[in-house]
Amino acid sequence: MRFGRLADPGSVALDERPEPSPGAGEVTVTLAACGVCGTDLEKLRGNYRTAGLIGHEPVGRVAHVGEGVRGLSVGDRVFVHHHVPCYACEVCARGDYTFCPTYSKTNIDPGGFADTFRVPRENVERNAVLRLDAKVDWDTGALLEPAGCALTALRKVGLPERATVLVLGLGPVGLLYARLARALGASWVGGTEIAGLRRAAAERGGIDVTLDPRAPATVRAAVDAATTGRGVDLAVVATGHPSVAKSATELVRRGGTVNLFGLPEAGSRLDVDLQDLYLRGVRVIPSYATTEPDIAEVHRLVVEGKLSIGDLVTHRIPLARIEEAFRLAGRPEEAVKVIVTGAAWK
Ligand SMILES: [Zn+2]
Ligand SMILES: [Zn+2]
Repeated sequence: MRFGRLADPGSVALDERPEPSPGAGEVTVTLAACGVCGTDLEKLRGNYRTAGLIGHEPVGRVAHVGEGVRGLSVGDRVFVHHHVPCYACEVCARGDYTFCPTYSKTNIDPGGFADTFRVPRENVERNAVLRLDAKVDWDTGALLEPAGCALTALRKVGLPERATVLVLGLGPVGLLYARLARALGASWVGGTEIAGLRRAAAERGGIDVTLDPRAPATVRAAVDAATTGRGVDLAVVATGHPSVAKSATELVRRGGTVNLFGLPEAGSRLDVDLQDLYLRGVRVIPSYATTEPDIAEVHRLVVEGKLSIGDLVTHRIPLARIEEAFRLAGRPEEAVKVIVTGAAWK
């Protein structure tokens, strides 16, 4: 079978290997689709090498079921989460599941861009295989993981009642964050983004104002108008640029929160006036990744019609053309969300 892997330098390659078969407690899944994430692109650029695997937003059909697996059958339509925490260590006991030492060591084999992938026993046992409701199409399924990341972040920062929220950077995760904030009751959601295609996607999703950050005075004016000059409750940094994080600290209200949500560039520094942060009581909270309960919650919101995300997929590229998928995903003026499709796609 074929699978996509990182190749040097800065490219993705399609390779061949034998199809995995499930051991006891495991399942294998035939790929329907897997989203190309911004972190996959950063791995390609060599900017994010925590794990060498690519593809962590997969949906597909259960191909084979290993001995002892309950609740899953061949042919089931599923989303699979690649990382699972141990739920037993001190970090997990505090609810910081995505920072559990076990979390990033677990993974599907050989990653989500594969004709078929194997789901290890710990992932199966800890509910990382989610059966999709019939109402959830493949496009939507492939967005459950990034939407789950947005929900984990929102839980972590705590969304005040009738909150005002500004999302800086409307790539796929920024757009998902903005829509989720709206679905969870934010009274005003604004977004900044250079690419016109992505601003248009935000406007379709009910975002109140989309702004071009190359005109900072307009951004300031829109925030002032929405908050009677106070600044937003929550400013979300959904890109990796440190200059955007700095703007976020300036656009948030006294006692407000800056959420570091996009993967920062390796080695980047935040150049802010610490006394200003101190005196205004601005909290800076990072949030990384997501876990099964939040993904299940996003799935529920979609099934109940409270959140709509599938329309963010602009390109579906077959696995055979994975290089093209990665190229497109790196072009904000041409694509919003790019997914790579496999044999189970119908
Ligand atoms: Zn992702
Ligand atoms: Zn743990």
